Amino acid sequence: CGIVGYIGKNEAAPVLIKGLKKLEYRGYDSAGIAVFGDGIHVVKTKGRLADLDAKVQTMGGVEGHVGIGHTRWATHGAPSDVNSHPHTSMNGRISVVHNGIIENYLQLKAELEEKGYVFASETDTEVVAQLFDYYYDGDMVDTLIRVIGRIRGSYALGILCSEKPDEIVAVRKDSPMLVGIGKNENFIASDIPALLEYTKDYYLLNDNEIVVLKKDGITILDLDKNEIKKDIYNVTWDI
Ligand code: GLU
Repeated sequence: CGIVGYIGKNEAAPVLIKGLKKLEYRGYDSAGIAVFGDGIHVVKTKGRLADLDAKVQTMGGVEGHVGIGHTRWATHGAPSDVNSHPHTSMNGRISVVHNGIIENYLQLKAELEEKGYVFASETDTEVVAQLFDYYYDGDMVDTLIRVIGRIRGSYALGILCSEKPDEIVAVRKDSPMLVGIGKNENFIASDIPALLEYTKDYYLLNDNEIVVLKKDGITILDLDKNEIKKDIYNVTWDI
């Protein structure tokens, strides 16, 4: 139900958890983060953000300057630790957070299982992680375009790849997502309150606009990989 993504000069985990807390009013049953340190570390749990925070503290923190976070409102698969996001491809290469519903997930799941992919969860979202891994060719944008061509339904997606330590890719369709513009740091979020503490400058996204988020740059592309020039939207109110 909520998404936050961070790449930049600061530790990612506290930014993700704090940002998700600002989205708590929307309701959720589970929460999780994936942070890129020495490889991608995923921490997730059924329950509250306080439970996630406690789990992270027990591990002695998760270090890294790149990460994605999620609060889940279960639609496919009961609330549980395993069904919580982020979801990871079988080989651990791809991590995904998702708001929305992948309508054709059963068909995609069957197709991927035939190719040898083993699924850990009952969610619709896990097919995105596995499909992204299946199509991955070294280029995150090319791979995402192929994935978008296969999935039906609604989605806001944030994606990390263990071979790409300095980028997050994201896209939305019929589910909200925006990009927060910082200095030596950039953000994605499903809603503005998550980021108000860090920036008041945003790009609003239309359906199927692809975001490549780096520490010092944001690129927004259409499905033909043409760069889209966006106006900066400035929030003048405070909450
Ligand atoms: N359909 C996904 C799931 O049930 C995402 C739900 C959400 O938007 O939080 O895991």
